[in-house]
This record gives sequence, structure tokens and C-alpha cells, in this order.
Amino acid sequence: MSNTKEWQQQDASHHLHPFTHFQALNQKGSRIITGAQGVYLEDSEGHKILDGMAGLWCVNMGYGRQELVDAATKQMQQLPYYNLFFQTSHPPAVQLATLLAEVTPAHLNRVFFTGSGSECNDTVLRMVRHYWASLGQPDKQVIISRHNAYHGSTVAGASLGGMSGMHAQGGLPIPGIVHIDQPYHFGEGQGMSPHDFGLARARQLEEKILALGVDKVAAFIGEPIQGAGGVIIPPDSYWPEIQRICDKYGILLIADEVICGFGRTGHWFASEGFGIKPDLMCLAKGITSGYLPMGAVMVGDRVAKVLIEQGGEFNHGFTYSGHPVACAVAIANIQLMQSESIVKRVHDSIGPYLQRRWSELADHPIVGETRGKGLVAALEIVQDKGTNARFPASANAGMTCREFCFNNGLVMRAVGDTMIISPPLVITEEQVDELVDLARRSLDLTA
Ligand code: PLP
Repeated sequence: MSNTKEWQQQDASHHLHPFTHFQALNQKGSRIITGAQGVYLEDSEGHKILDGMAGLWCVNMGYGRQELVDAATKQMQQLPYYNLFFQTSHPPAVQLATLLAEVTPAHLNRVFFTGSGSECNDTVLRMVRHYWASLGQPDKQVIISRHNAYHGSTVAGASLGGMSGMHAQGGLPIPGIVHIDQPYHFGEGQGMSPHDFGLARARQLEEKILALGVDKVAAFIGEPIQGAGGVIIPPDSYWPEIQRICDKYGILLIADEVICGFGRTGHWFASEGFGIKPDLMCLAKGITSGYLPMGAVMVGDRVAKVLIEQGGEFNHGFTYSGHPVACAVAIANIQLMQSESIVKRVHDSIGPYLQRRWSELADHPIVGETRGKGLVAALEIVQDKGTNARFPASANAGMTCREFCFNNGLVMRAVGDTMIISPPLVITEEQVDELVDLARRSLDLTA
């Protein structure tokens, strides 16, 4: 009936997967996903799996959207490829740039297209340094980021990120990037109120700027909610204080909205929800609902003015910057979001519903905390609810729970013992109920 064994063998013989222990996968064999519709995946054995992660936080409008397929087909027939280098353009890039200027916050009016979130972060690193050099301050080079941040897997992206496992391989981070602590209250702020903890973590930025010297610091970068680090939702006091500090010292604020953008948190962009005004915003994933690779750096008026009037040629770009087919899919995707009022739905109805149902898991004997915003959420697996003590690392509680989920028909991700969900924004209330029930069953089996 199925080719599963054959695919697994060929996969093991010829394929090195991303973020994977190669030997472990070869021994076990990968699960082969062959199709998907709505919020459900189908594997090569015919199992139906609720995709609680929207792929990799990206299939926001769900699988099987004919509008996106049609947009891609039409564009492939019309103009499958052309580049944007050397003073050329094409209608999908022009139209998407205009649409992005419309849907992003008012001061973000220019876009630099890339092929991915990582490429966005490589771009902002070069762009902010070039910005300061163009203003006659070439020593303003340092970008301040956070431990446990995720900004992609290219050399600059992984250096901006604060993942120790990534830094341990390949000699990262590159020079000129420093990290401060993350606003992870459950993991690192016990004993302090969330408010005080948020302020304390934000003020590390000020301390770092003063320690390095304002004349050396170019920018601060952060995900409004750290995604891959464990859906770390900062206390309310955090982002306003970060904004205050950036304004006080005139350093640029970069919001990496690769996960948070395009409705995930119940706002078009999470920066709006947190009340911050980033100079640069990195977008990818949800921009095409993952149907094609695409990224975009939104550039604020303050930065764009200097780059345009004083920057000369910007020696940076990718063959697939603003790929016409990806642009056409992004336009169709954004129009679909608009016509289905998807952001309002996440904000007003399905987001609050998921958060209410998800928070019920807090009564589970091995859950220390649940948290979330819009359609992204996490829970912390603990051995002792009184002290929030973790299971010993050897227990692999998070991975065990993830396996139970997968085998029972739910994709839920584990970051250590933090379990994460980020389902498609089109999920229904019944499907949320199914998700929460499957998660509870997996927690029962893990306990
Ligand atoms: N930035 C953030 C916040 C991300 O979550 C990711 C990917 O998960 C990236 C950047 C990298 O994006 P990509 O994998 O498209 O390069």
C-alpha cells in the first residue's frame, strides 16, 4: 500500500536533515508527510495528524488554499523569474511592496526583499551598520541581542541568535554581537514579580549600552515573543522599557517578527500589540503562509531616508530577492487574510478561545505554567508543581511528550521541557478542543 520503508531507507541513505541528530534519525526512520488539508497533515501510512505548529510556525492560512495555488500558477506562466538588481522591477514586487507598506505600521514604508527569515537578519545586520557609517559613525557596529533568541541559521542569523548549541558549532558568534538575558519569567524570574523582572531584564540593555559606549552600539534586536526559545512572552513592563532605552540613546530597534507577524498574536504585527515602533522589522514565514520561501525587511522612514540620500549603493541582495512567484503568493495570501478578517478573528474569538482552553491544562499534575497570546502558546512540564522543579534531564520529559503527541495525532513541539503550539490561524473551536484533548492525553502518558 505505501512506500514508507523505501522512502525511509532512501532518506537515511541520502538526506542530511536540518536540526537533526543524523545517526538517531537513520536508526529510527523519519515520518513521511505526504499531504495536508486545512489544519491536518497526512503521513505515508494514512494517519491524520493535527498540525499544532502550522508547519514551522508558517502555514497561517492552512493547507490546500486554492487561491495561493492559482496565484503561483498564473505567475509562473506569466513571468516565472526575474531579478530586481540593476534598476529592474516587476509588477508582483511593486504590488507586494505597496501592500506591505499598507499593512505594516505607518512609519514602515520601504521593503528589502529576501528569501527567508535568516536572510532578513543578515540584511538588517549589514543595513544598520551601513546606516551608521553613512551618517559618519562607522564605529557604531555592535548589535545587542538576547540569550536564547532565534534569528535564523545563516552565520549572521545564528550569531544574532542566542542559541548556545548553535554557537558551539562553527565558531559563532561573529564579532560585534553581544547578548543580554531574556525576559523568561518562569525559568529565570522566580521570586520577582513579572513587572519588576521585565524592567530588570530590559535595563540590562541600558547597562550594556553604557558598558560598551553609546558610540559603539548600532541596534538592539528582539523577537516580540521569543518563539523557538520557548514562546517566551515578556512581562508587560519589558517592551516599553526597551523602547524608552533605544530612544534615549538613539540606537535602532529591530523587531524580528518572522514568527509573530501576520496575525499570529492577534495583531497584524506583534510590535503593535506591545506598543513598540521598530526602525526595522523582519518578516517571513506567514508572509506566504509558507507556500513559498520569502522574506522581507521593512525599513522605517528614519533609516530609509539616510540609506537613500547618503548611503550610495547598498552592496547586498539575493538572486531570489522578491522572486515574482513568491511575491504573487504573498499578495494572494495577504488579500486572503484581509478578506477573511483573519487577524480580527485571532484577536476577538479564536485566540481567546484557544487561550482559555489551553489554560485549563494548568491543572495537570505535571504542568507548572501555561501561557500564550493569540494563537501561540506554551506550557512548562515540571516534576513538582509546588517548587516548579524540573524532571531530571535524563527523563527527556519534553521529547517524550512530543512523541506521545505525534503518535496520537498531534504535532506539538518541545523546547527542553517547554511544550509549544502555534496552529494555523484558520483552526476552528472544535479543532482547538481536539488539540487540547490530545495534549492532555499526551501529558497523562508522560506523567
Ligand atoms: N527569525 C525568527 C524569529 C525565526 O523564528 C526564524 C525561524 O524559525 C528565523 C528568523 C529564520 O527564518 P528562516 O528559517 O526562514 O531562515
